[in-house]
Amino acid sequence: MLVTMELHQEGHRTGRSGWLRAAVLGADDGLVSTAALVVGLVASGAARIAIVTAAVAALVAGSLAMSIGEYVSVSTQADTEKADRLREAAELEGDPDQELLELQHIYESRGLSSELAATVAEVLHRNGALEAHLRDELGHAEETRARPLQAALVSAMSFAVGATLPLIVVVVAPTSVRIPFVAISTVLAMCLLGAVGAQLGGAPPLRGALRVGIGGTLALLVTYGVGLVLGASV
Ligand SMILES: [Zn+2]
Repeated sequence: MLVTMELHQEGHRTGRSGWLRAAVLGADDGLVSTAALVVGLVASGAARIAIVTAAVAALVAGSLAMSIGEYVSVSTQADTEKADRLREAAELEGDPDQELLELQHIYESRGLSSELAATVAEVLHRNGALEAHLRDELGHAEETRARPLQAALVSAMSFAVGATLPLIVVVVAPTSVRIPFVAISTVLAMCLLGAVGAQLGGAPPLRGALRVGIGGTLALLVTYGVGLVLGASV
């Protein structure tokens, strides 16, 4: 009983961590790309109104691009799952005996004795043969099912949330310290996201934080340099 409950909870964690990780990645993208843009613009000496306009445009454009990209990629995955389902249903319709045998072999290969595998396969075939095949032959699961709309919404919203931080900081920070304020808040937020992302994936949080933090710092340094060069020469 205890074991069953633990397995059940484990399954739920897998389902949730899928879109949670997507959300962390989206926030990461929004944060880094907008902060890098803002730092480059500040370094170039652009006016505050230009910086804020560009940052808002980057937030909106990035959110849209992320959601469209995510929708297309997850839709492809959903199409594949649907095609699998149709093919499996047709096979069951066309040759149920062969399919029953197939299911039995799958359970045998997982360590069940021949008789037990045959019994399990028969019972499952009577109560929802298609679901049994999708689950045990193709590895489909409710927790990992492709949900294009959900994926699109999650990535658009998380990108926008990530992009909001540098936008707010550049608006409220005094002019002379805008770059360090944006840079420090961005790197701290990135380390936090990196740690959370690593935690969700079961990796050491500190390593995740450092990896993302260093990557983000490099991105900021590069656009800072670009801003300086363009600001001096254009
Ligand atoms: Zn099958």
